[in-house]
Amino acid sequence: MDQTKNITTPRYTQIPTFMRLPYTDHRTTDFVRPDPEIDIGLIGIPFDGGVTNRPGARAGPRAVRDLSSFTRIYNNKVNPYNNITVRDLGDVVTSEPFNLATALKDISAKLSSILTNTGVRPVVCGGDHCVTLPVLRAMRKLHPLALIHFDAHCDTGGHYLGSQWHHGTPFRHAIQEKLIDPKKTIQIGIRGSTNNPNLWSFSYDHGATVITMDEFESWERPCETVIDKIHEVVGDSNAYISFDVDCLDPVYAPGTGTPEIGGLTTREALQMLRGINGLNIVGGDVVEVSPPFDTRDQITALTGATVMYEILCLVAAGIQWT
Ligand code: MN
Ligand code: MN
Repeated sequence: MDQTKNITTPRYTQIPTFMRLPYTDHRTTDFVRPDPEIDIGLIGIPFDGGVTNRPGARAGPRAVRDLSSFTRIYNNKVNPYNNITVRDLGDVVTSEPFNLATALKDISAKLSSILTNTGVRPVVCGGDHCVTLPVLRAMRKLHPLALIHFDAHCDTGGHYLGSQWHHGTPFRHAIQEKLIDPKKTIQIGIRGSTNNPNLWSFSYDHGATVITMDEFESWERPCETVIDKIHEVVGDSNAYISFDVDCLDPVYAPGTGTPEIGGLTTREALQMLRGINGLNIVGGDVVEVSPPFDTRDQITALTGATVMYEILCLVAAGIQWT
């Protein structure tokens, strides 16, 4: 029996950690030398100070933890927990939630001390998409990273209402701060109306590969085509996956802040994620699950939890093979 995961009681019982894994509080003093050493840390970042429309993603980690009890151990007969240690490290919480710029700095510092002290690979649950920037900053030993980004929006926008920090800008900053390599960046699922026809020009101008839903729909075998393109763009670089649930059609993920119709199906998203097994995935996140709008049987939290599990499997495979 696998002792790394709580499978001795029914899944609706006990305190809901991510994937029903043991909880190791990252704030404890002995966390820097945990025993056994932690390979993958599942981390909640309950922060939504950067939303431009509907709020609520701050409640994402709690809902995703709860619904993640639906995930079991094996993924297509592969055990991602085999020979590695995966823990729920709790939430990273800013002490300055009322100031966006300092909140992001604060989250960056706290994540940095977790990741650099322990070398754990992060799989994060947001939070709005702002939280990806601190995660990328905290992974600084591995920079520049390749980026596989699922989203309705490129999130490389500029100032909005006087602020350069909001959930539509993390990847602009990540490129400017040289955290990710724009030429090894692929953005999938882009669509929706804009107030400016050049809203995402930063992505195109810096050489990122942008796949709109119109292009996706035009291909005969769209998922296979995207998988090939991801392999081409990322190659054997260390890659990070950022999964904004609004890449999915609102039919599949209604509980999110800035929904756009005409998106991916959950089946397509799973097919693409599973199709990139073998790439060197060193971390990832699921962001923009907004439980107050997730009123249809918590389907978005379930989807977020399942995608988080799939990303965990990809990161685990990378560690198990080395
Ligand atoms: Mn986004
Ligand atoms: Mn989005």
